[in-house]
Amino acid sequence: MATKVLVTGAGGFIGHHLVKHLLDEGYWVRGVDLKYPEYEPSPSHEFELLDLRRFDNCLIATRGIDEVYHLAADMGGIGYITAFHADIARNSAMINLHMLEAARLNAATRFLFSSSACVYPQYLQKSSEVTNLKEEDAYPAEPEEGYGTEKLFMESLCQYYYEDYDFETRVVRFHNVYGTLGTYEGGKEKAPAAICRKIALAMDGDEIEVWGDGRQTRSFMHIDDCVEGIYRIMRSDYPHPLNLGTDELVTVNQLVDLVAEIAGKRITKLHDLSKPQGVRGRNSDNTKLYRVLGWEPQIPLREGLVSTYHWIESELRNAGRVPELVESSK
Ligand code: NAD
Repeated sequence: MATKVLVTGAGGFIGHHLVKHLLDEGYWVRGVDLKYPEYEPSPSHEFELLDLRRFDNCLIATRGIDEVYHLAADMGGIGYITAFHADIARNSAMINLHMLEAARLNAATRFLFSSSACVYPQYLQKSSEVTNLKEEDAYPAEPEEGYGTEKLFMESLCQYYYEDYDFETRVVRFHNVYGTLGTYEGGKEKAPAAICRKIALAMDGDEIEVWGDGRQTRSFMHIDDCVEGIYRIMRSDYPHPLNLGTDELVTVNQLVDLVAEIAGKRITKLHDLSKPQGVRGRNSDNTKLYRVLGWEPQIPLREGLVSTYHWIESELRNAGRVPELVESSK
């Protein structure tokens, strides 16, 4: 009998890719979300639409399940998470508290919580010349308001369940994930997807809006590395938080240039300093990840952006939204 796993947030970006990965690994998979995946059907054995803020729904979601990959959260890009502190912290706290307890009561043997690099203190991220963030840097705490504060509390709760109930928890701190089949418009998209969309919709020589001065730095991890890392961390025996990201640091301006080069377009940047840009600089220190797993994310940014850009461009083209002149210039 195949091990039964639950993926929450299976209608979302990472959750949907993870369902496919776990099926390939031979698991029986139940997906749960408020919505179905946006861009293709879920191949999971079962998919249930449930609001996981409700404890009774978390008990339904976890029934008969051996291992829980918990990715459901109220989240989005920097514009969204800086605008809705109360909604995000309340919704995700309700989901997380109820999911952890329901998984324990239903005797799941492992529970993986998807945390975020947004737990790291803002005082360590004020310069674009970064020192890579180590797991122990999370304290003394000054996380991203709302979204990061809630994640940090939940990390501690996972630790308490591990210590008090011998419940096997895993905590993964993702650093900016990008790839195909992810939201690319509507306000919840992240920087790489937003930049791909803007460039796909632009004509050669056009100007696109870039949030902030573009000199803020980040690392970006391709979705294939992300799901591989999630799986390896779940299989490990390491119960404490681990970074999962690349340490290939770029400025947002460099990210724009890379996408423009892939698109084969000359693009000018119009910096909008009134828009949120998040912390000034952030990178992942993968020393501990490598020590625990003997592995770290491998896909270079340029390589991962090629498929991401072409997927977003083809979505927009199929919707008849890529400008005519751009089509004829190809
Ligand atoms: P996503 O928004 O695409 O997926 C989250 C899913 O959770 C959505 O499909 C949403 O419908 C679902 N959800 C929200 N509220 C729910 C509810 N009440 N009941 C059931 N489902 C609900 O986001 P993602 O990028 O796939 O992120 C997955 C996880 O990884 C999240 O916990 C997120 O905080 C974390 N994370 C992601 C990134 C990233 O770069 N994508 C970075 C850091 C952390």
